[in-house]
Amino acid sequence: MKRFTVWVTLLATMLGGSLWTASVSVAHEAQENTVVLISIDGFRHDYLELHDAPNIAAIAAQGVRADGLMPVYPAKTFPNHLSIVTGQYPAKHGIVDNHFYDTERQQHYRMGDGVKDSTWLTTVPLWNLAEFQGVRAATFFWPESEARINGRTPTYYYNYSTPAPNRQRVQQMIDWLKLPEAVRPRLVIGYFSVVDTMGHRFGPESVQVNKAITHVDELIGQLWHAIQHEVEVPVTLLLVSDHGMSTITADAMIDVQELTIPAEQFEVINAQTRLLIYTKPETTEAQVQALRERLQQQAQQRYYIESPAQLAQLGVTPGPRQAAIVLGTQAPVTFTQLPPEKRRDGGTHGYHSSREMDGIFIAAGDGIRTEVRLARFSNIHIYPFVAELLGLELMSDIDGDGAVLAPLLPQSN
Ligand SMILES: [Zn+2]
Repeated sequence: MKRFTVWVTLLATMLGGSLWTASVSVAHEAQENTVVLISIDGFRHDYLELHDAPNIAAIAAQGVRADGLMPVYPAKTFPNHLSIVTGQYPAKHGIVDNHFYDTERQQHYRMGDGVKDSTWLTTVPLWNLAEFQGVRAATFFWPESEARINGRTPTYYYNYSTPAPNRQRVQQMIDWLKLPEAVRPRLVIGYFSVVDTMGHRFGPESVQVNKAITHVDELIGQLWHAIQHEVEVPVTLLLVSDHGMSTITADAMIDVQELTIPAEQFEVINAQTRLLIYTKPETTEAQVQALRERLQQQAQQRYYIESPAQLAQLGVTPGPRQAAIVLGTQAPVTFTQLPPEKRRDGGTHGYHSSREMDGIFIAAGDGIRTEVRLARFSNIHIYPFVAELLGLELMSDIDGDGAVLAPLLPQSN
């Protein structure tokens, strides 16, 4: 709120006492803004044109829609959801893929392991930032939102292991927004996975993705209607997604076994668009080098070996969670361990940033300037924006820049 305080003081100085009261009440209102942040997993930037989502399109028309929301590398669900709520690259928040290995801990991380052991996360997510500064947070699913990070969970949250119909999630979010002020959360976070699930199984242009979008769109429409007609507090609605989706084909799949990577020397994780090859404690640099050379010879342009310079450019920094060798692919190619008869065409994500990997960003409601045009931007910039909307001071070293979304704030010029 620093900029806002300056603005109020400046106005009061310039225009005299009578406007002072008005400016202060605006400042108060802005401080009391509520933010609802919804992720529709795997909602590609062009799905609004490709499929039917009249409610989301209407919200975009009333608010601001960016040309695209660029995922961080790798364009996978957990790293990106964490980057959205931490403003940090995966190397900093700790969740470098949906499944990765830590050579120091000699342990695997798999999606949601932060619930059992929150030391996997080295960060201050938005719900933490809010709660530390006296703002209640509520989450109805978001990767790692049930983890007790820095000793604290959101005031209200649900365990992902307990199934909850999408309709129930929306109703709960509306109910939270209608709570009495003393217990009402000012940061409400929600998550829907069905669009991503259908994108994987049937591909981004399938009728099944279209149906999933119609379903989620109806729920978003209900939420938006309630925000506008039933909820009495000013609400900013942010609709985002973690990544897009590319078409993949069974005939382009690379069999991981064919690469014959020695299991006694290396820990191999098949991340589908990437192959992560970690060293074991006794593995020598010569063995890494030998494997790298052999994999290079076997590549035949089906995959490539990421260079340290390329990885650094993607925000990857060396550490125990960084694989010694990273193989990358381009759509429609993936790695597989399935026998040929079980391989299927479909969709996936996790490739380098491209238009197909872009997600959506839509902002509407209170506290948003709508006459702004937003080019595609990286999702690490959402965190300082939400902090500003809620009047929270940053508490950690983030990679995102508040200036990127500042044009959306009413006080900026
Ligand atoms: Zn995802």
